[in-house]
Amino acid sequence: MSTMTSEQIMSQAEKLCLQRGVRLTSQRAEVLRLMAEQRGSISAYDLLDQLRINEPQAKPPTVYRALDFLLEQGFIHRVESNNSYVMCHHFEAPAHTSVMLVCDRCAAVIEKHAEGVENIIGLLASEARFALRHSVIEAHGLCENCVEVEACNRHGSCEHDHETETKKRGKRS
Ligand SMILES: [Zn+2]
Ligand SMILES: [Zn+2]
Ligand SMILES: [Zn+2]
Repeated sequence: MSTMTSEQIMSQAEKLCLQRGVRLTSQRAEVLRLMAEQRGSISAYDLLDQLRINEPQAKPPTVYRALDFLLEQGFIHRVESNNSYVMCHHFEAPAHTSVMLVCDRCAAVIEKHAEGVENIIGLLASEARFALRHSVIEAHGLCENCVEVEACNRHGSCEHDHETETKKRGKRS
């Protein structure tokens, strides 16, 4: 997994927008910067709350328009199954199919490239004479950190955040 810093993400996005002749307005850039600072996925409304810290007049359409632009440019992905958005960490590779591993406990999203999966979907689509435009593959579960927290039975004497629990509770001793 690549670990681009938010500065690297911003400068790369600026470069690509320049090459493509599209405008990264200050509002679009601000939304992208907020996205780049997220550890996991974020909903449009949480994004709006964060945007309002610096731009108190921001309204939902402000965020949605900026998100649409960023999606179009492939800088971010939509996580369909929990209706949120996540930074793409290799947006220099256009039109890639990724598998999104979505943590149900902390909403972290790990994006993995999926060339093999892409071929299979392409094959299935052509068998069905289906003109494929866009595909999303999402898998749900627990991230590495949450697996550890869920397995922990020393509540109180550990440093985990046990406040956030998954809907399906694991067994405790
Ligand atoms: Zn991506
Ligand atoms: Zn997690
Ligand atoms: Zn613990």
